[in-house]
Amino acid sequence: MTTETRPAAADTGIDYSAFESAIGLNWYDVDPNLRQIVERLTLPADREFVERQLEKMGAIMGQRIAARAEVTDKNPPRLEKYDRWGIEVNDVVHHEGARETKRDLWENGFIGLRWTDEVRKTRAGRLPPALGTAFSYFLSQAETGMLCAIGMTSSAAGIIDRHAPAEVRERFLPHLTTMDFAEAWDGAMFMTEIKGGSDLASSECAATKTADGWRINGSKWFCSNVDAEAILTLARPEGGAAGLPGLATFLVPKRRADGTRNGIHIRRLKDKLGTKAVPTGEVDFEDAEAYLMGGERTSSDAGARDGRGINRMMEMVQGSRFGVALMGLGIMRRSFLEAAIYAFRRSAFGRPIAEYPLVRETLVDMAVEVEAGCAIAFEAAQAGAKQDAESRRLYRILVPLAKFRCARRGVELASQAVEMHGGNGYIENWPVARQLRDAQCHTIWEGTENIICLDVLRAMTREHAEEALFARIERAIGGAEHPAIADAVSQVGRSVDDVKEAVAALERAPQEMRLLHARRLTGFLADVAQAALLVEEATWELAEKDSARKAIVARRFVETHLRERPLRGITSPDRTALDDFEAIVRYQAVRP
Ligand SMILES: Cc1cc2nc3c(=O)[nH]c(=O)nc-3n(C[C@H](O)[C@H](O)[C@H](O)COP(=O)(O)OP(=O)(O)OC[C@H]3O[C@@H](n4cnc5c(N)ncnc54)[C@H](O)[C@@H]3O)c2cc1C
Repeated sequence: MTTETRPAAADTGIDYSAFESAIGLNWYDVDPNLRQIVERLTLPADREFVERQLEKMGAIMGQRIAARAEVTDKNPPRLEKYDRWGIEVNDVVHHEGARETKRDLWENGFIGLRWTDEVRKTRAGRLPPALGTAFSYFLSQAETGMLCAIGMTSSAAGIIDRHAPAEVRERFLPHLTTMDFAEAWDGAMFMTEIKGGSDLASSECAATKTADGWRINGSKWFCSNVDAEAILTLARPEGGAAGLPGLATFLVPKRRADGTRNGIHIRRLKDKLGTKAVPTGEVDFEDAEAYLMGGERTSSDAGARDGRGINRMMEMVQGSRFGVALMGLGIMRRSFLEAAIYAFRRSAFGRPIAEYPLVRETLVDMAVEVEAGCAIAFEAAQAGAKQDAESRRLYRILVPLAKFRCARRGVELASQAVEMHGGNGYIENWPVARQLRDAQCHTIWEGTENIICLDVLRAMTREHAEEALFARIERAIGGAEHPAIADAVSQVGRSVDDVKEAVAALERAPQEMRLLHARRLTGFLADVAQAALLVEEATWELAEKDSARKAIVARRFVETHLRERPLRGITSPDRTALDDFEAIVRYQAVRP
């Protein structure tokens, strides 16, 4: 434990003026909100194991990985298409720092821990969801491009474990789940074609069944982690139905079973705005050897017969979308931390800028948004780890809500962090400009914001997932009786009634109007869910810690997102940003 970064006592709080930058800190020690989430959500028997892992990973991320991320961003991967003899090799050359970061992640169990006996022996018998979520939240604070690569490897392992034929599983799974970097293979997911990523039904990649197995031909337009060994892709088996039902999920290995290079040709790497650590390329498949995920079928019915061809890929997409929510959340947290450090160190007009009311309000609201983002993201992870039908429906809707909320707030908070740094923020040798470049990716990949909103509508129409969400919201506010949050609870209750009315109105509305209001409804659902979950956290903290800090956070979130504020709040008596600044930004306990 690095005692110098952890606050000495709850009431002194974090001393940002003692830090030069977020780089070099233990990101678990400086994040009391995360520590409280872990305490609340982890079984007592697993606490010691989980905290030990997070102490270790928090130091690795905040120190080595965060420092290297600044270098790899300026030294992105490059394609060596041909060797010196002119033979096509399609090699992607990574900066040494990126390789060292991958080694750190693999060897410290970022992927492999969940497959170890140590985890099987935990009380839960599986990786506690708060632990895996915190790993991704840490990595996203350093470098979201790297989480893209690692997250897809983890998701690919899951799909291969569940759907690959036994001999394929045995060939790939040990490499995808190992903690030995020398043996490690990467995973990837190529779906988007040049005609479009949202409209997957228009996919043209073709799969042909030959005497030697499946072959894929066609092109993919956005392929991240392009040099992965295990690529999951969508293709239409010859004679398959048009649209989504005719698509099937295939595993395309980098190397054929005989060890030769497979028919995967990288046209070029994309010159991206951000997320530079992960190489994103354009790919042509030419008679690429492939394995059908989910059992052998004839060529004409591989996707259509069981109607689940695309569903196998969508399992991976749901996991990856959650990963993108955590990318946004990580950027939110890093932006807040960098902004807070800067505000306590920088002076203007003879005083640290952290003393000025407008700066205080910005920092308070950034901290509140981070905690609201954590609330919905960690709740999604809890739901995703459960098997019952209600939790599955809850997970189904919480994932797009978390992605919608955290991806957009990632852009907003990164922008605020840049501005907090003044002109320095716009300069690339300060740490926040890159966060803003990286953040913009997350509202796009794994489904644009619009597509995510349509996904929320789909979750409601097909699975009535909103019922599970409303039941969860009502449970969250049901036990909240403490006077410190009574007012916030009443407002959340009224907002629940309002959002139910909005859902009912849209159910009756013509389809065009449903589509028109999808973003508004998604935002409304996210606001109410986050407010309710913050209230639940506040109730826990009041009971367990005898502190009303989280109650203030919940109240502030309710004020800014749910309550109608006449005259834009100018006549509101809310003095949170002034009176509770230390409590919220420095995480000081507050007597109820
Ligand atoms: C850095 C990066 C890496 C990527 N890596 C991968 C990868 O590894 N694998 C992969 O498969 N893909 C990847 N993608 C692709 C990404 O998933 C797509 O860009 C995304 O799904 C959007 O598809 P598109 O670019 O074709 O945009 P389009 O689908 O053409 O969308 C254009 C605009 O139209 C809107 N739109 C489209 N349809 C609707 C509708 N029905 N209603 C309302 N609005 C609509 C969209 O919201 C968007 O604003 C990556 C993208 C980026 C930027």
